[in-house]
Formats: sequence, C-alpha cells, structure tokens
Amino acid sequence: MKNLLSKEIIYQLLAEVPDPEIPVVNIIEMGMVRDVNLNSDGVEVFLCPTYTGCPAMDMIDTMVKEKLAENGFVNTVVTLVYKPAWTTDWMNAATKEKLRVFGIAPPVGKASSKKGMMNQEMVACPQCKSTNTQIKSMFGSTACKSLYTCTDCLEPFDYFKCI
Ligand SMILES: [Zn+2]
Repeated sequence: MKNLLSKEIIYQLLAEVPDPEIPVVNIIEMGMVRDVNLNSDGVEVFLCPTYTGCPAMDMIDTMVKEKLAENGFVNTVVTLVYKPAWTTDWMNAATKEKLRVFGIAPPVGKASSKKGMMNQEMVACPQCKSTNTQIKSMFGSTACKSLYTCTDCLEPFDYFKCI
C-alpha cells in the first residue's frame, strides 16, 4: 500500500519536470515516462528519449533526480528505454493544444498510420490556424521540428514533426 502511494507521488513529481525545449509541457505529457520502479534501494525511472541524440536528455536526467531528491527520494536511477521507440502518438490532444498555444504547430495525424510519408500533412498555422502554409526548412530550431511559414499571416513557426 505504501509503495503504491509512493509511486503515485513520484508520478506527480515527474509531472512537475518540464520538457526543457517546450517548457509548457512536462515529461509525462510528452509520453516519455514509461515506468517507475520503487524498491528498498531507491527509485528507478524508465524514460523513453523523444528523438535520438536529443541534447535535452542529459538535462532531463538531472532534473528528474533533483526533483525527486528535493522530495526525499535521494537514490534515483534514470534508465533510458529505446524500445518501443518514442512516437508523437503518445501525446494526447490536450498536450498538442498546449504546443499550439505555445506557438509550435503540433504533429498532425498518427505516426503509426502513415509510415514513409514525411511532411505530406496539412500543417496548420498555430497563430491563425490557416492551412495555407509552406515548409521552409526540414530543420527548425531543433532537429525534431521543421520550419514553416504561414502564407496568410506571414508568421514563421516551428512544426513538431510527426514520428
Ligand atoms: Zn497564420
């Protein structure tokens, strides 16, 4: 019983760890937390990295350990899980809406239903919601995003690629 309760507390604490690249969403909302293990030695957090080689992973590792340590869980191990690979399908609609409000066009559609069809989707402008948009560069501010511009309001914006 105590264990179940503690596990719940750990999940609540992890929900306070933001994605360093998108501070409006946390690592739970991103679907990165795959499991939490609690035993007499401490806590083990299983994290699935979003994009391979994402430089934010070291930062997330540190933030997770600090957040748990501040709350009395001093022995934390972060284990990276690569299979199954992270997919934008693990973000729910509310999380995608947070991205849009933040100014990043959220991934369109399901990665699982359109393999090999990169950037064929209609990407809506996060400002005016027009789908009259153009891709400018495959890579935006980070490798996981593409740079678009809106033909209607002329705003450039990042599109979070669907993977
Ligand atoms: Zn626009």
